Amino acid sequence: MGIERLLGATAGLATPALVVDLVAADRNIAAAGVRLRPHFKAHKCPELMRRQLAGGDCTGVTCATAWEAEVAAREGLHDDILVANEVADPGGLASLRRAAEHARITVAIDSPRHLELLQGIDCDVLIEINVGQDRCGLDPADVAAIVALAERAGERFRGLQGYEGHAVLLPERVSREEQVERAATILNRLRSVLDCELVSGGGTGTYDLSTHLDEIQAGSYVLMDASYAKVDLPFELALACRTTIVSRNGTRAVCDAGLKALSAEYGLPLAVDPAIEVVGLADEHATLTVSAESELAVGDAILLIPAHVDPTVNLHAALHAVEADGTVHRWPVAAARTAA
Ligand code: PLP
Ligand code: MN
Repeated sequence: MGIERLLGATAGLATPALVVDLVAADRNIAAAGVRLRPHFKAHKCPELMRRQLAGGDCTGVTCATAWEAEVAAREGLHDDILVANEVADPGGLASLRRAAEHARITVAIDSPRHLELLQGIDCDVLIEINVGQDRCGLDPADVAAIVALAERAGERFRGLQGYEGHAVLLPERVSREEQVERAATILNRLRSVLDCELVSGGGTGTYDLSTHLDEIQAGSYVLMDASYAKVDLPFELALACRTTIVSRNGTRAVCDAGLKALSAEYGLPLAVDPAIEVVGLADEHATLTVSAESELAVGDAILLIPAHVDPTVNLHAALHAVEADGTVHRWPVAAARTAA
């Protein structure tokens, strides 16, 4: 049975609620294979991350924020934690300091200023290289600046990060391959002039293409979402939002999951039932179109697949994770938001 089994298994939950099919998640964990440094930001849920780490040969844990790293380190998820972004705010730096009491912390940098900010914090660094995403990272053509920053980092220099975020969601495999090849050329050239212990990057969409990397920072693969479902990948949908119909009027129905339960920046969620179409989202509601003959009634529950996993889970306090035998765990999204 597919993800629709979650409907019966989670009957009685207050809605909106995020529900997880652990059978599908386990298959995703097995399909991802090795060389993974799973990204905590996808779900921020320690119990789920423990399952990923137990099911694969992982190099460590990736975090997006210093706060996630603090939670991951305190929870003892792994002794090698990478913050795959630059950290420059006082609260984030304080989190890094606390995280470093429990695990080896490595953080991305792209300027000498970051090294000044990290002074007194027991952590190593990866120099981020802009491999085409045009977000953070040094210009790969400026080899002199990259080498100078590595020298300045000294003992702290652990290697490079080159995240090909511009490639991960391209639906055509050949287009992803093209972008990955360009990133590989850049990073392999820099490897030849720097002594790197680690070159890190990659995501769900490039998990098997980025063979130039020592590890892949994939996160979405374990739960997936409606956007990644459009990419030809071996991962299945394992996350849905359980929501209740609160109004029905002809072909229009309304349920109780809106923008406070489902991120919409990648578009509208997808109903698991193909007879239901989501046509709009407001603060507390999703508007649905159903056929006039549909028996969908007030009080019925349905499942919606979020368009984008990471910002959706961040809106929730817990995941309701369903085992093969129907057992439902309530797992806190412990690292949602910041401590502020
Ligand atoms: N690495 C970094 C630095 C990221 O920002 C992301 C996602 O945004 C990822 C890896 C991979 O995420 P995903 O598994 O969603 O492709
Ligand atoms: Mn994402």
